[in-house]
Amino acid sequence: MRDETIAVHGGYEPGSTRAVAVPIYQTVAHDFESAAHAGAVFDLELPGFHYNRINNPTVDVLERRMAELELGTAAVALSSGAAAVRQSVRNITDVGSNIVTAPQLYGATYTYFAHVLPGEGVEVRFAADDRAGSIEPLIDDNTRAVFCESIGNPACNVVDIEAVADVAHRHGVPLIVDNTVATPLTLKPIAHGADVVIHSLTKFVGGHGTTLGGMVIDGGNFPWSEHQTRFPMFSRPEPAFHGVVYARDFPGTAYAVRCRTVGLRNEGPTLAPLNAFLLLQGLETLSVRLERHRQNALQVAEYLAQDSRVAWVGYLGFTDHPHHDLAKRYLGGRYPSIVTFGASGGRDASIRFFDSVNLIKRLVNMGDAKTLVAHPASTTHRQLDAAALAQVGISPEMIRLSVGIEHIDDIIEDIDQALGA
Ligand code: PLP
Repeated sequence: MRDETIAVHGGYEPGSTRAVAVPIYQTVAHDFESAAHAGAVFDLELPGFHYNRINNPTVDVLERRMAELELGTAAVALSSGAAAVRQSVRNITDVGSNIVTAPQLYGATYTYFAHVLPGEGVEVRFAADDRAGSIEPLIDDNTRAVFCESIGNPACNVVDIEAVADVAHRHGVPLIVDNTVATPLTLKPIAHGADVVIHSLTKFVGGHGTTLGGMVIDGGNFPWSEHQTRFPMFSRPEPAFHGVVYARDFPGTAYAVRCRTVGLRNEGPTLAPLNAFLLLQGLETLSVRLERHRQNALQVAEYLAQDSRVAWVGYLGFTDHPHHDLAKRYLGGRYPSIVTFGASGGRDASIRFFDSVNLIKRLVNMGDAKTLVAHPASTTHRQLDAAALAQVGISPEMIRLSVGIEHIDDIIEDIDQALGA
């Protein structure tokens, strides 16, 4: 099936009720047939559901659909994108290990890496930029992952995933890619060598600003058992889950199964069934929404670029964008609807614009059907000093627009009046 069809039908087989919409299984637990049946489900010998912190039939459809779209072998849903970031790293790190990351990151991912993970004994090494050559020298024997956002939020850098995956694999390390901004309909990191893909489903996938959710997707290709010293958690009996040996017992899905049986089961960042339903509703219309988002974003970027009240515009579709060539190669010309700009007059003028929009919503979210505006330096990235802001690709005057699907004339009219304020 093609992506547009998978987004509508993937992962769902109607049960005895023949319900066309995915039912919301609002239950905490499932009735066992017998002690033997309970034991087999608990030991993962039989597929099935037992307790909904660990899995749930509605959430399961969303997991299967996202895994299929991302070319993964299995997926684990989480309560938010931030929970997905955390689980993706926690699943393979412990005290004394490190990860290497590209510096252009969503604000809470940056602060989690810079200030929270180190407190748990995991060092995070920020590369000077997102290039493979800058990442490679930071990898050592204790490195457990290389991390990047395929399209950085809000920097809109596009990572050369193939080059970074090559470098990581040369050292026996997996590549984790946050594919939130791109979505699997635009870019499939696993096809380019990524080993794990994560998402905030809160953004384009949900698409309506109603529901938080996250996803971790296992690419199924990383040879954990060839790197037993670096990744003992996949080759030794798991003390937290019945002595399972993940790489042996779950070849191809070891990473996802451990994420569920250790991360979800013991830490509990579970996606609620109702939220899975709402995210499935969003996913069904993602392909058509993305088309409209892209058309509108191009027109907004072109409008801003010709206006003397605007000092600069960052839009991946423009040939002068430093990441345009990579965007062409990885996104096939389907540029995201994130447009950044600085007002002429610097930070104060940008803040005046921010304060003056009417239709456009001032908030810290993106990928909503509504057009949204953010000022990263005073919100998502406000903890960063000037040097750290520059490293993550943000200037003090940067305004980030997430262009929605309203009528383009209404969006541009609002931008015009706010620039004139
Ligand atoms: N990753 C990226 C790229 C994001 O933009 C965000 C949120 O904006 C997150 C992760 C965190 O997602 P959530 O807000 O769903 O926790």
